[in-house]
Amino acid sequence: MIKKLVESVPPGGAHETDVVIIGAGPVGLFAVFELGLLGIKARVIDILDHPGGQCIELYPEKPILDIPAIKTISGEQLTRQLLDQIEPFGAQFHLNEMAITLEKTDAGKWRIKTDMGTMIEAPVICIAAGGGSFQPKKPPIPGVDDYEGDTVFYAVREREKFRGKNIVIAGGGDSALDWTLDLEPIAEKITLVHRREEFRAAPDSVEKMKALVDAGKIDFHVAQITGLKGADGKIEAVEVESKSDGAYDLPCDTLLAFYGLTMKLGPIADFGVNLIENRVEVDTEKFETSVPGIFCIGDMAHYPGKLKLILSGFHEAALMSHGAFHYVFPDKKLKFQHTTSAKDLQAKVGEG
Ligand SMILES: Cc1cc2nc3c(=O)[nH]c(=O)nc-3n(C[C@H](O)[C@H](O)[C@H](O)COP(=O)(O)OP(=O)(O)OC[C@H]3O[C@@H](n4cnc5c(N)ncnc54)[C@H](O)[C@@H]3O)c2cc1C
Repeated sequence: MIKKLVESVPPGGAHETDVVIIGAGPVGLFAVFELGLLGIKARVIDILDHPGGQCIELYPEKPILDIPAIKTISGEQLTRQLLDQIEPFGAQFHLNEMAITLEKTDAGKWRIKTDMGTMIEAPVICIAAGGGSFQPKKPPIPGVDDYEGDTVFYAVREREKFRGKNIVIAGGGDSALDWTLDLEPIAEKITLVHRREEFRAAPDSVEKMKALVDAGKIDFHVAQITGLKGADGKIEAVEVESKSDGAYDLPCDTLLAFYGLTMKLGPIADFGVNLIENRVEVDTEKFETSVPGIFCIGDMAHYPGKLKLILSGFHEAALMSHGAFHYVFPDKKLKFQHTTSAKDLQAKVGEG
């Protein structure tokens, strides 16, 4: 599973690096490679708990046919290969964290903060935020606001929080199934609720879930959640409606609702860079924004003729890296080299 391919740095703490990349989509990942070739270190932040951006979240199994020199590759395989390619550069990943604020330090660096309390300082910021941060869709359950963040959640940010809980998990996609399987050993009880017998999740996860139901380890109800019971933010039961059994309650102390994701520009709107139609305006020489030291590449970048394609993002990553070099190493001269002939570049990726 793609989730296990990258170790995430535990949230919190203060860190320093050369470039902070916001977004672990294909373009953010390739930026690690291009920066790495120039000896530039990077840390990558993503609100998702796995790298790959749209490739993993929206079309992991669909064939991509327009990656140069690769006849066909799935979104998941492209992500795996990018992770393999950037492995020598040891980039640190801060997954499950949203980049929320950006400020200049007295020393002239950028300080970025996440919603999990992580702080990273760097001379360069690279926004590779695609169509925006993936954020959970709110379930259409009356009164759900009263419980949000207390006993109703739309993502698992800290797994341990769910130990010993009596959890209803709602949804039929990969997130619902993955967390059903993952939390089953530590929860007091898991009840999965989905409106149909069919699931959108990976067949292997569905099989594993069914085996747990057969073994009596979890419950599964084909039903729709219609309401919540409880008080003061503490949920006591979800009300459900099923075609076969009518309306009834499922007692629980926690609801995890996975109703899909939507992409929103989010906090980047307040980073002080010029925006055009919810995207970040850049030059096409370095892919720098209106603010020196802040670059933007991939789907989030706006310039005349921009094509929202992975290959465009890869090109932008190369030019951004050359622009970033001058901020990271202001006293060094950048020498353009080919990987085929430069021994020092080959050594960086463990070749030659
Ligand atoms: C169905 C579909 C099919 C496609 N097919 C093709 C194809 O065949 N060929 C092709 O070239 N392209 C294709 N694309 C387009 C391609 O997927 C995008 O061009 C590509 O994903 C852009 O990569 P990216 O890294 O810029 O952004 P994304 O893949 O969108 O990744 C951006 C990441 O940034 C994260 N992020 C954003 N804001 C924040 C924040 N504030 N804090 C933390 N994280 C944040 C997001 O959560 C996301 O994971 C397709 C797109 C779709 C939807």
